[in-house]
This record gives sequence, structure tokens and C-alpha cells, in this order.
Amino acid sequence: MIQSKLPNVGTNIFTIMSGLANEYQAINLSQGFPNFNPPEALQALIFEAMQSGANQYAPMAGLLSLRTVLATKANQMYGADVNPDTEITITAGGTQAIFTAITAAVSVGDEVILIEPCYDCYRPAIELCGGVPVVFELHAPDYAMDWSAFAKIITPKTKLIIFNTPNNPSATIWKKEDLLALQNLVADTNIMLLSDEVYEHLIFDGAQHESALRYPELRKRAFITYSFGKTYHATGWKSGYCIAPEAMMSEFRKVHQFNVFSVFTPVQVALATFVKQADHYLGLPDFYEQKRDYFTEAMQGSRFKLLPSQGTYFQLADYSAISDLGDLDFCKWLTAEHKVAAIPVSAFYSSGLDERIVRFCFAKTNDVLDAAASVLKTI
Ligand code: GLN
Repeated sequence: MIQSKLPNVGTNIFTIMSGLANEYQAINLSQGFPNFNPPEALQALIFEAMQSGANQYAPMAGLLSLRTVLATKANQMYGADVNPDTEITITAGGTQAIFTAITAAVSVGDEVILIEPCYDCYRPAIELCGGVPVVFELHAPDYAMDWSAFAKIITPKTKLIIFNTPNNPSATIWKKEDLLALQNLVADTNIMLLSDEVYEHLIFDGAQHESALRYPELRKRAFITYSFGKTYHATGWKSGYCIAPEAMMSEFRKVHQFNVFSVFTPVQVALATFVKQADHYLGLPDFYEQKRDYFTEAMQGSRFKLLPSQGTYFQLADYSAISDLGDLDFCKWLTAEHKVAAIPVSAFYSSGLDERIVRFCFAKTNDVLDAAASVLKTI
């Protein structure tokens, strides 16, 4: 009978907490997704694409017209030259792009460095390939990198380093110094990188997103993943893309071809037009910064201690002044008793490290943020 290849994996925390939120009819600030819709013009373009017959397989790598506008965008935003024909593949979301990149890159016994807390899909993908996750832990409240300590965990077996800025769940961002430090460490090695940049446009206080695309030494060895779900308020469309140098992308496509083959055509047709409307994504930093500030303001006077949120649509909160419960139990209690759901940050650590911090998603309309904050303030 079947022997589990992922014996330590259970139902993921987003499914658990959204399930509990539904069960208790709680306000769901747990799983990260907006409670508002994608731009209407984009919805209309998808409908139009369907009506005009764009309903059969897209090319395996994605529509060239979409890849071409994405290459132009990468150039305008990050100054990178990206060949749309050979260096971009459209994927069924960021998670599939990440899984495919890891599968293409990692063989049995290869070490892959994870910087935790990190998103929960990296580790299982490494394990399925027989890779060995090597964890570097960052800690609250600032989750800052110690690059000299990091240098010590790189070995001749290091095949891939995975990083994510703006970061889910810590809501911190890497600065230029971080990217330069990484560049310094990997120069003259064969180490590959996986730069998860799905929150590229959700960055606050005038900061610049430090894409790996800005750094030629990083770019030449990196799979870089993006998400239309985050950028267009459409997480359920499961659409995104990956950029990588030709040799790496060619291996990526070998995996993609037999796992997914191609992704939903109407969204690709619509985005080939809509991505050109830069005002949408250039407006996102302000849009989400206002949400962050609205939620912070509404939480004034609460016993939750909010940590800085520099990017993503997440806000971490230290609840140690409120309860001695572990963070998972605290989240379950908060959902059942107070009808607000959050994510325990221990779920993002392989070690289960519990610093009594929970993650709230503020990608919600102000009425929902108000309703949640008015409850949270009473606790
Ligand atoms: N990325 C989202 C989060 O961090 C959830 C994705 C998922 O549910 N798998 O909350």
C-alpha cells in the first residue's frame, strides 16, 4: 500500500484556519486573500476573451503576447532584459511556479536553504525531490538577516537558496544591503536561487522592491516567481509566472509541460492587455499602505502589540500581554470565542518556534477591518 512521501505533512494551516473561521462564522483575517474584487475592466476582458473563442489550450509556456508585456514590465520596473520567448513561463499561480522550480533544480541529497519563518509550500517540494532542507531561522521583532551567520550554513552541497521579499509572514522587506550580501555569498558558486516575489507591489513607506532582477549576479542564477493573484486581487484565479535564465527555464518547462502543460487561456488573453495599465500596479503600494494604516489606527488601544509591516498584506501582532496559550491554541480560541481568525506564526517554522505572534491579513474592506478591530480591542 502507499507509503507516505510526506509523513510529517498534515492539512495546511490556511485550510485549517479558514475552515474554523467558516465553522464559527468568524471574521476571516487568517488565510491571505482580499475580500474585494479584481478591477472590473479586467473581468470584462476575461469575459470578452471567452466570447471571442479563447477557450482552448494556450501555448505550453503561456501566450507570447502576455509574456512580451511581462518582459517589458520587468524592464521598466527593474531594468532587466528578459527574453519573453525563452525566459518567462506562465504558471497556475505562485505555488505551482515554486514547486516546478524546486522540482527542476533539486536532486536527491542536495541541500536547499530556507529562511524561516517562510511560506509553507517550500519545504514539502524539497522533500519530494529528496532534497535536504537546511533552515536558517529569523526572529521577532525585526526578523533581520545576520549575513555572517548565514554564510556558515552554505556548504559544497548547497544547491538552492530560497528567499521571499516582501516576506510572508513577517511583513518585512529586504534592503539593497541584503541583496548585495547575498550576491557576495553566491558569486563564484553554482548555487541557484529561488526569489519568491509574489508581493512585489505590496510595499510601503516609499520603499523600493529589491527584485533579484535588479542584480545581474542574482538574476543569472535565479528562478523568480510572481503572482497575478496578489497583483489583481484574484487569488482564486491561480495564475502567475516565473522568470529564469534560458538554461534554467528550459528545465523548468520540462517539468511544467508534464505537470500542468498550460494554464487558463482567458485570463492570459485579458492580462496581455491589462498588464499594460501600469497605473493599476503602481497604485498598489498606496492602496495597501492605506489599509495597513487603517487597521493600525483601528487597533489603537488594543493589548495586541503590532509589529512593523513594511510590505505584503499581513500584519503581525504579539499577543503575549493577553494570553499564555501557544499560538495555534490562541488562534483557535480567538476564532471560537471572539469570532476573529488569524494565523499562528509557528506554522511558518519547521521547528514550530512559538514567539506568541499571530498574523492578520488586512486585504479587507474597511468595514471588515473595523469590525475585527473593535472585537480585538476588547480582548
Ligand atoms: N498565501 C496565502 C497565505 O499566506 C494562502 C495560500 C493558501 O491558502 N495556500 O495566507
